[in-house]
Amino acid sequence: MNSMIKTLFLSSALLCKFASLAATPTDIGNSINLDNYRQDVKTLASDEFEGRAPLSVGETKTVAYLVEQFREMGLQPAFGDSYIQPVPLAKITASQDMSLSVGDTTFTNGEDFVARTERITEQLTLDNEVVFVGYGINAPEYHWNDYAGVDVKGKTVIVLVNDPGFTSGDKSFFNGQAMTYYGRWTYKYEEAARQGAKAVFIVHETMAAGYGWGVVKAGGTTAKYTLVDNNNNLSKVGVMGWLTLRAAEKMLAASGLDYRQLKTQAGKPGFTAIGLQQRAKLTLRNTIEHKASQNVAAILPGSEAQDEWVALHAHWDGLGKGTENGQQVILNGAVDNASGVAGVLELARVFKQKAKATPFKRTLMFGAFTAEETGLIGAEHFAKHPPVPAKDIVAFLNIDGMNVNDATPYTLQYGENVSELEDYVARGAKSQGRFVKPDPRPQNGLFFRSDHFAAARQGIPSYLFMSLGDTDPQFIASRYHKSGDDYFDSWSLGGVVQDLDLIGQIMAELANNGDWPGWKADSSFKEARIASGRGNSSTED
Ligand SMILES: [Zn+2]
Repeated sequence: MNSMIKTLFLSSALLCKFASLAATPTDIGNSINLDNYRQDVKTLASDEFEGRAPLSVGETKTVAYLVEQFREMGLQPAFGDSYIQPVPLAKITASQDMSLSVGDTTFTNGEDFVARTERITEQLTLDNEVVFVGYGINAPEYHWNDYAGVDVKGKTVIVLVNDPGFTSGDKSFFNGQAMTYYGRWTYKYEEAARQGAKAVFIVHETMAAGYGWGVVKAGGTTAKYTLVDNNNNLSKVGVMGWLTLRAAEKMLAASGLDYRQLKTQAGKPGFTAIGLQQRAKLTLRNTIEHKASQNVAAILPGSEAQDEWVALHAHWDGLGKGTENGQQVILNGAVDNASGVAGVLELARVFKQKAKATPFKRTLMFGAFTAEETGLIGAEHFAKHPPVPAKDIVAFLNIDGMNVNDATPYTLQYGENVSELEDYVARGAKSQGRFVKPDPRPQNGLFFRSDHFAAARQGIPSYLFMSLGDTDPQFIASRYHKSGDDYFDSWSLGGVVQDLDLIGQIMAELANNGDWPGWKADSSFKEARIASGRGNSSTED
């Protein structure tokens, strides 16, 4: 495999019109030691690590293992004199004996709705008016505001999942079938909070959400971790809820409204919010525990620009233990994401060796953060409290679920025309004789669902390298987030070699070229980058 990749490089280098590529190392793939890689995955995904749930014994073992690896490599701590950044978490467990009533109708927890809060409060009571606000989107760049002309302060809002482009099939309307961030549930809660609403219930529809009610129910009725800000999260919306489609239809019908009709209207410009003329009543009771989880990172300090960092990262956490068919199981998370963490570790070893011969100008960071599965929490904490200012982080490359099978003639890309890192990937892939393949499931909004997104929100140009079973047709259905996500000796790891080679090339290039890749489209990422004090790209500085 190594030699094949080398041959591809040589032949494509001749055709390559980008002079800068000739200066970048092309032997990273050849330096990757797959024995190390296998050992890392095997260890992290072993039963002994108990599925690597945050705050469990699995965390203690995982963090100890990562620190030991970085120390052995001779890398320096990323957080002052420590490899560890504490991440303050609150574990909120909501009592499940609640019910929601709207007007005369009572809805059953778990069957009709789910509700939780991220406010640090033991009790939260709703008794307020209900307003249907369509998609609950305020998007100036699309000239769209579902909250125009309506005051939702202190009220409960009902919103549709996804964005109006999804059902229209019109590529020029929002982003057509591809989900914009306005379609994500996280956005719905954030916007409602900005509008002053007290509670949000998102209407669940499987196609538009990208997952079934079972996923919503599991996520909404179990204990949740959240970061705690200095205002006990009181600026977040009070109640974060979902309704089944059937419950939403019933609720609206009781006010003489037809769900289908409203949904059609809400998908067209000029829609205005409608009050249900009913009150919602609900009481949430929480048990709250405060604990700290841990991000782990090491650096290879640059020889010239030590305070300019190029970051590579993979989340170390998994889902811990679960139940399948009434049996206790360990969700070892071998592909998701021991495979990514092992990739970070192996590239760290490769770069440490290479730096001995020729140091890299910028500092390289190799990180593994906590609590991605519970809401990109470790990455959010890192991005809000980085060891160097966010504006000095050149790029944040995120690996989530590597291709542990054979090499592919393509690399998958999530999002399109998002950042200039896409140009680096395109060039790197081309030098390997590969092409860039767009996300086959753009409607699922995967760009918003891994740690690089938390970095992007702080303006740091970021990129997601994710295969996650792309080469294994059984993976999503039978292994993803299940006990079947185990390590197998039969993995060929051809995909790992070519992807680490690609990622390594990009890191090496960014480590030496002085470039500040920017955001492509006008977006809140671009605004955040400029607000952080960094012009959007080298060409605009
Ligand atoms: Zn993952």
